[in-house]
Amino acid sequence: MHGERDYPYECCGLLLGSFTEPGVKMIAEVYPISNAREEQAKRTRFLIRPEELMRGERSAQAKGLDVIGFYHSHPDHPAMPSQYDLEHAWPLYSYIVVSVKAGAAQDLRSWEMEADRSRFIEEEIRTLTQPTDHGPRRGSHVGEVDTG
Ligand SMILES: [Zn+2]
Repeated sequence: MHGERDYPYECCGLLLGSFTEPGVKMIAEVYPISNAREEQAKRTRFLIRPEELMRGERSAQAKGLDVIGFYHSHPDHPAMPSQYDLEHAWPLYSYIVVSVKAGAAQDLRSWEMEADRSRFIEEEIRTLTQPTDHGPRRGSHVGEVDTG
């Protein structure tokens, strides 16, 4: 996965999907983007350039989707948002943090910032099953984030 390829640097990208109902987001796909930080800072900070966000939003809209959040990796750190992440977060979006240790993804957790910006609240991640002609199977790229 993306976070493993970019190790030991942080990777980041957009979550494309839809706001299905209050507190619930549906992730349809991820949109990897390059980390705009300088080499030195790449290990601990992620930054998405405005033009990359706009490109991601156009890509989402072309598919009838919205940008519903962001993901980034934490090389050798837990899958919990940092203080820096909190200070740079926007409300309503989901923030998925992937913990990568020694080049392998260990943990993946999703967070949404409190309305008063004081902290992140962990979101439940559910993998949806997609019915096919061959019967139900696990969808590998379709997920639902529930803030409840
Ligand atoms: Zn972070």
